[in-house]
Amino acid sequence: MTPAQMKDAILHHLVYTLGKDAAHAQTYDWRMALSFAVRDKIVDRWFEATRRTYAGQHKRVYYLSMEFLIGRLLKDAIINMRLEEAAIDALQELKVDYQAILEDEPDAALGNGGLGRLAACFMESMSTIGCPAMGYGIRYENGLFRQRFENGRQVEEPEDWLSQRHAWEFERPEVSIDIGFGGHVQEIGKRANWYPSEMLIAMGHDTPIIGWRGRWGNTLRLWEARPMHGFDLQRFNRGDYAAAAEPEALARTLSRVLYPDDTTEQGKELRLKQEFFFTSASLRDILRRFESEYDDLRLLPKKAAIQMNDTHPAIAGPELVRLLVDERGIDFEEAVGIARNTLSYTNHTLLPEALERWDEGLMGRLLPRHLQLIFRINELHMKDVGTRKVTAVDDGHVKMGELSFIMAHRVNGVSALHTELMKSTVFKDLHELHPNRIVNETNGVTPRRWLLSCNPRLSTLITDAIGDDWVDDLEQLEKLEPHIDDAAFLESYAAAKRQNKNDLANWIAEKLEVGIDPEAIFDVQIKRIHEYKRQHLNLLETIAHWLEIRDNPNQGWVPRVKIFGGKAAPGYVFAKEIVRLTNDVAKVLNSDPLTSRYLKVVYPPNYNVSLAEKLIPASDLSEQISTAGKEASGTGNMKFALNGALTIGTLDGANVEIREHVKPENFFLFGMTADEVMERRRIGGHAGQAIAADPRLARAIEAIRAGRFSPDDPGRYHGIVDNLVHHDYFVVCSDFTDYWRAQREVDTAFAAPKDWARMAAFNTARSGWFSSDRTIRGYMADVWHAEAAPTVEDAAG
Ligand SMILES: *Cc1c(COP(=O)(O)O)cnc(C)c1O
Repeated sequence: MTPAQMKDAILHHLVYTLGKDAAHAQTYDWRMALSFAVRDKIVDRWFEATRRTYAGQHKRVYYLSMEFLIGRLLKDAIINMRLEEAAIDALQELKVDYQAILEDEPDAALGNGGLGRLAACFMESMSTIGCPAMGYGIRYENGLFRQRFENGRQVEEPEDWLSQRHAWEFERPEVSIDIGFGGHVQEIGKRANWYPSEMLIAMGHDTPIIGWRGRWGNTLRLWEARPMHGFDLQRFNRGDYAAAAEPEALARTLSRVLYPDDTTEQGKELRLKQEFFFTSASLRDILRRFESEYDDLRLLPKKAAIQMNDTHPAIAGPELVRLLVDERGIDFEEAVGIARNTLSYTNHTLLPEALERWDEGLMGRLLPRHLQLIFRINELHMKDVGTRKVTAVDDGHVKMGELSFIMAHRVNGVSALHTELMKSTVFKDLHELHPNRIVNETNGVTPRRWLLSCNPRLSTLITDAIGDDWVDDLEQLEKLEPHIDDAAFLESYAAAKRQNKNDLANWIAEKLEVGIDPEAIFDVQIKRIHEYKRQHLNLLETIAHWLEIRDNPNQGWVPRVKIFGGKAAPGYVFAKEIVRLTNDVAKVLNSDPLTSRYLKVVYPPNYNVSLAEKLIPASDLSEQISTAGKEASGTGNMKFALNGALTIGTLDGANVEIREHVKPENFFLFGMTADEVMERRRIGGHAGQAIAADPRLARAIEAIRAGRFSPDDPGRYHGIVDNLVHHDYFVVCSDFTDYWRAQREVDTAFAAPKDWARMAAFNTARSGWFSSDRTIRGYMADVWHAEAAPTVEDAAG
């Protein structure tokens, strides 16, 4: 596409799709016009991919996920279609600011964090590889809340990404599926009829996800809940206006909110309804498509692979069995076999509070037939394995992890360490009974968004050095290794980072009104706020460091800027206190004339995908400091290493594999191992001992306790202090001393800029393995037994 053609296409949509005259068009209008111009180009390729999938009778992958943290889509689409030059030139002629257009797009936050972002990276990688696939989820009207700070405290506001027309989706009213809840079951022989008492409709909305070079496009289908019988005119005519609108409001509730936490179980009826709603709609859509092509249901596992992203879609097991047995007359045991060979399950957490369990009473009321089938599935499994040792139903609860395991032919962990811990802890007994079922698929991130698009300076440098094959074969980055010994290359590498840091410093000055030194270490911890992720360990070190600088302000300290980002779940009290403490610490440190040129703290609000894209390319140091054994994988850690930030981290999740790839000498390791953590916890008073042994730690805790960061309310953080001193389940105190040591090593290393640049460049060169393309190829080979389809020719731009 030439710039002139692009300009014509933009103007065409501006006038005929948006009904705007160029003279009166606003940023929004230009953004929509550009989006539609780009979308047109995508649609042809998307259709072609669908045609090829049908024609080749390829196996399809279905990725069921309660969350898709997709972020903005315009730049991604432009880059993957290689339309950036055309778009920039066309807009320049039209005198429209390209960057302003990109920034105008709402960030679609249909997820909480890592789990949802993983699903989004997977969608992009499946399209890049040409794996015929479809993502299924919920079209939340309000995604994750927007975070604001008020006197340091987190305030949540609804996210209204759909208040403007959404450029990327196509409404599919013809894909409307009835979903029932409640009611009763009538058994007839081996089958049963379920008569739900409540019905609503799931309507599909399709977003095309285009892969790199536009070679393939898959669909993300998100379900919207609609009432069965819309508006009640009779009631309205009787003057009962609120009641007339009630069915609609009730139905809409179902796809209204994203539960704002992915690590604690929400014992909410609505949550279970959401899970069944999207899972059932997706399965019935999948079966409808299958039956339009094949007439033998026993072929299902050969033609469809259904992935359950965590246990949120775990009801897929019993629901698929129900659809096969009750609605299609297949024998129960055969149906369980078909379902199991089609389904697989990804486990994302070992935290006991995050493993979903549903009360049998609730399950029986909402899904009476499913509860019956869960009991039968469980009995059959116990009979098959010859022991009653493991069960999916226990103590009046349905355990969704066990149910998923029993109903899946493959169960995977998301990093090597996490997979081994799964085998030895949560699924120990099941693993012994099914030793081949658990496999590892270490997470990855898409290099298109997380390098090519978010870090153009580094991308250009890499392409100049080794060509652009790295974009879809990220392990090609190893070809950078010989360049790392070239002083000119290293200087350019460091210059790209410096410019990114300058840009970020300017943005922070403008948005937060805090001046930061671009020469300082940009030390970044961005992720959900959670006790196990230990933002408070980072804060304690910050405070101890500040106190030490105050003791000796003229000692020539290496300047540092601590950058925090992250949301706390609205009901998570401890996390919200950490948010507030971070802001309080920032206030005191940033205004301390003795120390502020050496140490500042900034905390931009509303961490999301777009903010991550801004911060990561400008980072020097990546904080991955969770308690060993608690972070299943992490994916933030991979984005940082790829963009040349060095990691300070524990042996947790994928940190272990990152350290192996980038070599131990290019990674700042500290802290106890997972085994040592478990040992340490057995020592009574472990926190008190650690505090007594380290005066720096004692002083930092005392500063918080005495109210130095909350002089107007000295007792504000006694909860945090109490937790640290008396409980400290996440062994913050016991890891502090080693963390401090590693941080001082960081100071020393950063003071030698050439060596630092070499280590950073080595991180980039060795991070190729962490591409989600590699992860997807792993799933295709080990879990889905699916092959890529022949893709279409490259988009020429
Ligand atoms: C990558 C990413 C995450 C995951 O970060 P972790 O550090 O792995 O927890 C969370 N949120 C956003 C917006 C991300 O881009």
